[in-house]
Amino acid sequence: MKEKLIIKNATILDIDSGYKYEKRNIYIENGKIKKILDKEILIDGAKYFDAEGYIVSPGFIDIHSHLYTATSLGIDADTVGISTGVTTIFDAGSCGPLNIDDFYKKNIINNTTDTYVLLNIAKTGLIKERYEIADLNNIDEELIYETVKKYPNLIKGIKARASASTVGTLGITPIEIAKKIAIKAGLPLMVHIGNYPPKLDDVLNLLDKGDVVTHTYHGKVNGLLNDSKIIQKAIEAKSRGVFWDVGHGTSSFNFNTANKAFNQGFYPDTISTDIYKQNYKYPVKSLADTINKIISLGLSVEECITKVTSNPAKVFNLNNVGAIKIDYKADLTVFKIENKKLIYNDSDGNEITSNMGIKVLYTVKNGEIYELQGVEY
Ligand code: ZN
Ligand code: ZN
Repeated sequence: MKEKLIIKNATILDIDSGYKYEKRNIYIENGKIKKILDKEILIDGAKYFDAEGYIVSPGFIDIHSHLYTATSLGIDADTVGISTGVTTIFDAGSCGPLNIDDFYKKNIINNTTDTYVLLNIAKTGLIKERYEIADLNNIDEELIYETVKKYPNLIKGIKARASASTVGTLGITPIEIAKKIAIKAGLPLMVHIGNYPPKLDDVLNLLDKGDVVTHTYHGKVNGLLNDSKIIQKAIEAKSRGVFWDVGHGTSSFNFNTANKAFNQGFYPDTISTDIYKQNYKYPVKSLADTINKIISLGLSVEECITKVTSNPAKVFNLNNVGAIKIDYKADLTVFKIENKKLIYNDSDGNEITSNMGIKVLYTVKNGEIYELQGVEY
C-alpha cells in the first residue's frame, strides 16, 4: 500500500511502549508506522482520520481459533479477524502435516488478517474431530519436521490436545511425544487441557518456559482448581514461564473457575477466543466480547489490551506487530469504552453483569481502515 494516512487525536493505549492513554498523532506510510508525535503532522497527499474520543491500541492478536473449512469447525479468518478488530489470528491445530497444503490454499493465502498455524501433531489435525491422537499411528514425527521446515513463516508452534476425548486410552503418552517434537522443532507447544485422562499434573510436568496452556479456566474436573485452590503444579508452571491462555470455546471458559483463580492472583497471560463456526454466535462472539468478560471479572482495560497485543506477540516471537512503534506494521484496533449494563455468558451458561466494556469501531490493517459493521457486542 503506497497511501499515506494520518490518524490524528488518537488516545494511544500500549502499556509496553509507554502509552497509557496518551494523545498522539500517528503517520502511516506504505502500511507501516512512520511517526508518532504529540504535535500535528502535515504531509502532502495524506488521508486524515480523526480518532478524537477513541482509544487506539496495537491490532488485537487472537492466538486460538479454528479456520480450516475442511473440518467441521472452520470459520473464515477475516470474519473473525479484521471484521472484529483482530489483525493477527492463529489457527490452533485444525490441520496436521498431511493437510496443511490444502489449508494454506483454501483458507490462508487470500486472508487480509495475518494468519499463523499451530500445527497439530496428528497427521490430519482435527479432520475427524475426536481421538486424533488415540492411535500413535496418527503421529508421523519426521513428516512434522519436514512440514515445519517447509513453512517456517507460517507455523509458529505445535499443538496437542490433552483430554480423554483425544488421547483415548493412551493417557499422557501422546503429550510426551508432542513435547519431544516441539523441542526438536524448536517451537513452543500449545496444549489444550480438558477431561481426565491425562492428569493435568502430568501435562504440566512436561511444559517448559514458553509453552502455552489453553482453556485455563475450564469448569471441568481435572482443572486448575482443587477444592477451590490453585493446584501447586500450575503455580510452579507459571513461575517457570509457562504461559496461560483463556481459549474460551464452547465448553472451556467458566466464570466461577476464573473468578476463584483471579482471587488467588492467577491471571491469564493471553486472552483468546477458541472461536469457530459452532460458537461464534454464542457463547464466544468475538475477542472483544471475551475481553469484556475478563473485564467484568475484575481486570482493567489496560491489562486486557496487553494480553491481546504485546503478550501474544512475545509468546510467539512475532516481529513488527503487537506494539505501536516506528517501522512496526500499521495494524491497529480503534475502540471506545462504553459505560452501560452488559450481560455475558460463559461456556457453561453462567451469567455475569458488567457496567462497562470495550466496543471496537475500526480496524486498521496494513494502514487501511475498516469500519466495523454488523458486529453486535
Ligand atoms: Zn481445545
Ligand atoms: Zn480449539
